[in-house]
Amino acid sequence: MPKVNELGFFEIRLESIGGLGANLAGKMLAEAGVVGAGMNGVSFSSYGSEKKGSAVKAHIRFCDLNTPIRDTSPVERPHVVGVFHEALAKTVNVTGGIYEHSTVLVNSAKSPETLKASMNVLAGTIAVIDATTIALDEKNRVNMAMLGALFRMCDFLDPEIMKGVIEKSLGKKYPQAVQSALNTFERGFNEVKFMHFPLPEGVQMPAFVRSDVSSLGYETQPIGGTIVSPGNSFLKNLSISRSGLLPHFEAETCIHCAQCDTVCPDLCFVWEEQPDKKGRPQMFLQGIDYQYCKGCLKCVEACPTTALSGEREEEGYADSHTVRHHFDLITQA
Ligand code: SF4
Ligand code: SF4
Repeated sequence: MPKVNELGFFEIRLESIGGLGANLAGKMLAEAGVVGAGMNGVSFSSYGSEKKGSAVKAHIRFCDLNTPIRDTSPVERPHVVGVFHEALAKTVNVTGGIYEHSTVLVNSAKSPETLKASMNVLAGTIAVIDATTIALDEKNRVNMAMLGALFRMCDFLDPEIMKGVIEKSLGKKYPQAVQSALNTFERGFNEVKFMHFPLPEGVQMPAFVRSDVSSLGYETQPIGGTIVSPGNSFLKNLSISRSGLLPHFEAETCIHCAQCDTVCPDLCFVWEEQPDKKGRPQMFLQGIDYQYCKGCLKCVEACPTTALSGEREEEGYADSHTVRHHFDLITQA
């Protein structure tokens, strides 16, 4: 292993949202290290409400066979961080505790220079892989592309072993997904790009402060029942919960049948009463309030016309296409 901490561990932390497969990726990574590379290793995850879209972490430790693992606390000082969803950095300190020689892998289409600021990286290596695009192209999942990229930076792990782990893990339950998972893994491995940022002269890495990583503990957590980030009000911030696709609405082909609204698990569709051709009042669909949309695309499946289609979410798409609910506008006024 290239670097280890004072306890002899090489540590990896995966920062993700529920539904992108970071937990499974962590388990597979650990299995490849233990079974394939003959190291000691451990993997575990921490997550809250377990709903799709909420923040989750996976922790992996490797060490040599003579080092016992008696530490199952969260990884606070990672040698490698894998950020599965770029927008997580808005609300989670994803790079908390990194060293000057750590590598931060980000699922993004942006350049490492751009990500250096948004990920709050003073020095270290930034690796970029557009895992969402690869996963959509290959009809597979973001975690396989991220795993491929992680293997490039953990060169003590053998990618061929990992392919065996993928075949074993998916082969029994989802045999039809094995080849696309292997392709996605391979592309993640080959397409990841790195850039190293040395520590500027005369500048020191900030001292590690434990509260940077775990701001909530038994001493600092809010009093029970306090909702600090409301999910049920206009303050709800869904920017981190979508996984690459959004419904696109074309008003011209909409027949206002409301099948989309019937299947939508959230309050996304905005309607307005207007006179129909005969002057009778009728509800007409105006568009989608993306603040409440998690990108499940159930509405696209249900729509009997071409009024709804699944589109790749680009930065700013939701903001520029959203039609606000009237009650949002009233609440914010
Ligand atoms: S299901 Fe399609 S056609 Fe029907 S209201 Fe929704 S968008 Fe319009
Ligand atoms: S993608 Fe899902 S959450 Fe978004 S509008 Fe369609 S059904 Fe609702």
